Amino acid sequence: MSYTALYRKYRPTNFKNVVGQDVIVDVLKNSIINNHVTHAYLFTGPRGTGKTSIAKIFAHAVNCQNFTDDVCGNCTVCKELQVNDTDIIEIDAASNNGVDEIRTLRDNVKLLPNFCKYKIYIIDEVHMLSTGAFNALLKTLEEPPEHVIFILATTEPNKIPLTILSRCQRFDFNKIDLESLVKRLNFILSNENVNLPDDVIKYIAKLSDGGLRDAINLLDQVISLDKENITIEDIDKLSGNVSISTIFRLFDYLCDKKYDLLLDYVSELSLNGRNYLDIVNSMLLFIRNYSINIQINDYFDKSYSDNLNKYSISHDNLIAITKLLTELTYEMKNTTDQKLLFEIYLFQISNILDQSDEKEVSYSQIQNTDSEVINNLEIKTENNPQDIIENENKKEKKDDTTLKIEESGESSLKKLKDIRINNVFSEASKDILNSVIKDYDRINDYISSKLYNTFAALLIDGHVVAASKEYLLFAFPDESYIPVFDSNYKQIEIFLNEIYDISYKIVAVTFNEWENLKKEFIYNKKNNISYVKIDENDVKLEVRDNLNNLENSALDLFGEDSISVK
Ligand SMILES: [Zn+2]
Repeated sequence: MSYTALYRKYRPTNFKNVVGQDVIVDVLKNSIINNHVTHAYLFTGPRGTGKTSIAKIFAHAVNCQNFTDDVCGNCTVCKELQVNDTDIIEIDAASNNGVDEIRTLRDNVKLLPNFCKYKIYIIDEVHMLSTGAFNALLKTLEEPPEHVIFILATTEPNKIPLTILSRCQRFDFNKIDLESLVKRLNFILSNENVNLPDDVIKYIAKLSDGGLRDAINLLDQVISLDKENITIEDIDKLSGNVSISTIFRLFDYLCDKKYDLLLDYVSELSLNGRNYLDIVNSMLLFIRNYSINIQINDYFDKSYSDNLNKYSISHDNLIAITKLLTELTYEMKNTTDQKLLFEIYLFQISNILDQSDEKEVSYSQIQNTDSEVINNLEIKTENNPQDIIENENKKEKKDDTTLKIEESGESSLKKLKDIRINNVFSEASKDILNSVIKDYDRINDYISSKLYNTFAALLIDGHVVAASKEYLLFAFPDESYIPVFDSNYKQIEIFLNEIYDISYKIVAVTFNEWENLKKEFIYNKKNNISYVKIDENDVKLEVRDNLNNLENSALDLFGEDSISVK
């Protein structure tokens, strides 16, 4: 007997067996009962959440002759549908761009169904249709014949033209909750006569992140291992997942400064075939969870929360580590030796963890002086030899034509940003701003691009608020966006060049900062104070001079041994 994948075997064929999506199922059922069926539906939501399954059941249900609460299974239509599906037509837009199929659809749509009341077209991954196919589809959607129902399914509703969206009744499918996933997996296991420990079942459900198809497929693989005593480690090996214990172990070694063990473990991970990029992403997830755990007491279950509580990482250090890890995810894609790069960054993280909070002093927090220059300066005690070596190395590969952020630390980043803000204002143009905004939507096209997805996701939350020939000023909802933007600004410039075909220099502030900048700008305009454009390249020396002066004033304030200025 041939093997049927569990996912196919347990695919629901009636509403009763659908997992999750209760609200959607109820609305669809009621529309049939109350005769409110429309001619076009859009099912959107993450993969494996039941869009296609429910589309098929609905297609069946609207045609069932005895529909009360579910398909009856006994009427002539229900029986015929088991052997003949000519009235339910599935088109997979992902397999080709669909022009021919949509044309055929347009020619055949007028023909009456063979034995059903409605002919149903299910178009899966509809966002993959070409523009030509969308236009052809639109023609049909504008005046659908009485006997036709369209069900369009997609994971990416943002890629569907408004003209199509506006003609569909839309249903947003949610990720399936953990409890329902576990319940379904248990049901399948008992049917298949297989025993798995509860924690393993729960772990499979967790890993699949709300997608039932992924959960069942993973379960399928686990069962086919045909092994006694399946453990969570087995699941990690199968799924390529980086386990929580791996990340805890890395942070244990980092925090305890057990560097020899750390390096051994990194090698061990590579021998086990772990992808370092996955590990870095899991470390970012750890930082996220750690931050949540500080703010919300019972967000995670107790054992995980207790584990997170073992660590003591300051707010500033969390930001610094996030910055490094984000940078690393980008750098990883451009290196042939991920392990080496990973090790280098681990040591940078250990340096950050080495600095206790008390030593990190933000000058502006201590001395609220009116001097704008001094306010711009951040002073940190970074007298770690490793840092000095790194900074020396960075200087060596510096690019002379631009002011590098890394070169003299935070203060020159701030200086560079101030110059850029000044320069946007010096030549700001409403026309340029409008044209930039007009094409801003194009960023959406890169949401699933392997190369630019992170930047696209970042920029979608921002707004271009001022523009000149050379510069763009972005504003973001809150300050969590700014470090990510700042540490990737070069790459974001390359990305924007791809979109606009113009090499803009960019700078980002928060909405609050933007409000203040705007007020200042208006004040200056009123008082005839003009913004004079500054050449970024001329600033380097000036920055150094300022630093020297400031170093002296800082020393006056704090004394020599407590402070060193980068
Ligand atoms: Zn029936």
